[in-house]
Amino acid sequence: AAGGETFSFQAEVSRVMEIIIHSLYSNRDIFLRELISNASDALDKIRFLSLSDGSQLGSGDAAALEIRVRADKAARTLTLRDRGVGMTREELIANLGTIAKSGTRAFIDQLSSAKGDSSNLIGQFGVGFYSAYLVADRVTVRSKHNDEPVSYVWESGADQTFTIREDTTATAPERGTELTLHLKEDAGEYLETAKLKGLIQKYSQFINFPIFLEVAEEVEVPIESPAGDEEAKKEGDEAAVDEAAEKAKEETDDMKVEDGEDAKEDDAKDAKKEAPKTKKETVYKWELVNEHKPIWTRDSAEVTDAEYDSFFNTIAKLPGKPLAKTHFKAEGDVDFRSILYIPDKPPVNLYNNAEAEKDAIKMYVRRVLVTDKFEFGLLPRYLGFLIGIVDSDDLPINVSREMLQQSKTLSVIKRKLVRKALDMIRGLSEKKAKDAEKSSEEEEVDMDKPKESTDADAADKKSNDDEGDKKPDPYLSFWKAYGKSIKLGVIEDEANKERLAKLLRFQTSKTNASDETDWASLDDYLERMKEDQEYIYYSSGESVESIQRSPFLERLLEKDYEVLYLYEPIDEHMVMSLPNYQGSKLMSAEKDNFKFGDKDQKDAKERLDGVKSQFRPLTKFLKTSLGDKVSKVRLSTRLSSTPCVLSTEQWGYSARMEIIMKAQAF
Ligand code: ADP
Ligand code: MG
Repeated sequence: AAGGETFSFQAEVSRVMEIIIHSLYSNRDIFLRELISNASDALDKIRFLSLSDGSQLGSGDAAALEIRVRADKAARTLTLRDRGVGMTREELIANLGTIAKSGTRAFIDQLSSAKGDSSNLIGQFGVGFYSAYLVADRVTVRSKHNDEPVSYVWESGADQTFTIREDTTATAPERGTELTLHLKEDAGEYLETAKLKGLIQKYSQFINFPIFLEVAEEVEVPIESPAGDEEAKKEGDEAAVDEAAEKAKEETDDMKVEDGEDAKEDDAKDAKKEAPKTKKETVYKWELVNEHKPIWTRDSAEVTDAEYDSFFNTIAKLPGKPLAKTHFKAEGDVDFRSILYIPDKPPVNLYNNAEAEKDAIKMYVRRVLVTDKFEFGLLPRYLGFLIGIVDSDDLPINVSREMLQQSKTLSVIKRKLVRKALDMIRGLSEKKAKDAEKSSEEEEVDMDKPKESTDADAADKKSNDDEGDKKPDPYLSFWKAYGKSIKLGVIEDEANKERLAKLLRFQTSKTNASDETDWASLDDYLERMKEDQEYIYYSSGESVESIQRSPFLERLLEKDYEVLYLYEPIDEHMVMSLPNYQGSKLMSAEKDNFKFGDKDQKDAKERLDGVKSQFRPLTKFLKTSLGDKVSKVRLSTRLSSTPCVLSTEQWGYSARMEIIMKAQAF
């Protein structure tokens, strides 16, 4: 490019570009979604800034918060223009020349090893801009930021360098960004209106700003002749044509008019008969292609499943269908609307990347995006996998993050969001087999339903399912993906512990370990408890197999008491936070305080008293020989065929826990 200064891309950028171009070749369509999403972000930013300083928005054209997409077949370019916040010279260099986000390394690794569809990765890792090079061999970015006196041009042919120069042309944007993609030889399809319209409607339908696409249209216009004028007035429908042409003219700001080929032929044919009254012309006009009324402001009854899915795709930057959703309006102390989704797969790095969860819930105040990067999170850590939006009328629109953080309103919103999220998850657990085969008509969009979905309802469904043959349980997909989050919730969310405990699933001595679909809830456990059983028993080990071999289980199994198998590292922490469920105590099969229940305990005591003195020499001998290695040696009734076991003190860590803690170096 002529003039300007040349810069080198950060090494990671060149690498990312290379990978994107190679790994996403068969999925090139996504570039448009990424670029429109950037334009939308930039519009969100200027709208937010303008709240505290109205002059930021400017007037006339610049004030229109919209996105325009235009293909130029002759020049083979595709141009996207937004009236967003724009970029300063420094920002052009930093944002389009480096990757600021952490985890770039991880991204590069994942992308280069990803098999199949990796297109969902690029939105998540914040490298969407570079997808422009899937279809373009050169990209020109003209951008004007309010903080700069002039606009700048960034340009690169993806050859490890880019240039920056001042934009001195008369068409330089007043504010915002104009991206011109110089399309590759084989990317001509992205010049076609139908293709572009299809892509916008598919991927960017729920962008909250109007997206206009320039479309060519054939219109009939009257031929201007002294006689023509008179004749045109005779026929009513011709007046209509007249009007349409006028309208087209008004809607087109830089209209180009070409003579249609057909019109010329018609002219020649009809010349002898009588003078033609109209001719065909191609006019270009801007067509609105998306639905930009925020979906959450609509009545849930009027939103189709496909629309909800599509909105999910837009905000989550993920393909496919979510596992579940909830759309609701909270009224009372604080009014707000929200849509929450459970993605079908956990986001990359769910448990070790703090960034993932911060981005997940977008906060709007009166339809204006306030921030999507709450340092503190709108949802607790364990619900970090949820994706969605919250829009409140009750928050001051123009407040600092610090104030928002302390706002009482916000804490009410947070509390209600958690409740609704847990309701949604519970809904999934109650919607078993039979419902899964029905169409998804009655998903848990409960915006206008009363809050309590009746438990009678749930019980009903359950009994139905028990009769019917087994269909895959949608809750199991959830459990497999997010079970760990629920366990984390039991540990961290005291207020919702019971609700969360209801959502837990276990493999137990009564589930079939080789059946992937056979899991027990604590309610299932309670239902199956024996008449004389007082406690909920669990056993810890490193796998189902090793627990099954444990001598601690012998007598429990003899008595036909069910035992929960705990084999994930987090399980131990979790049961420590869950001393009882629905009034029944949880009891470790391995610990010293182990009991079969009070009556049993009494019988055992009698039996023990009878033989205690008989065995005293043995217990004494063992204690002296083992010394400090054990704290005491006792007779016990908990075993049947195994002569002895090592157990843990009631308040001590289990053997399993000690192994875990050593591994984690607590
Ligand atoms: P992400 O959008 O996840 O941050 P991208 O690679 O898509 O990652 O974009 C990188 C950055 O470039 C954005 O964060 C933004 O600062 C800037 N940017 C991209 N497109 C625009 C635009 N149309 N207007 C203003 N800034 C933009
Ligand atoms: Mg982006």
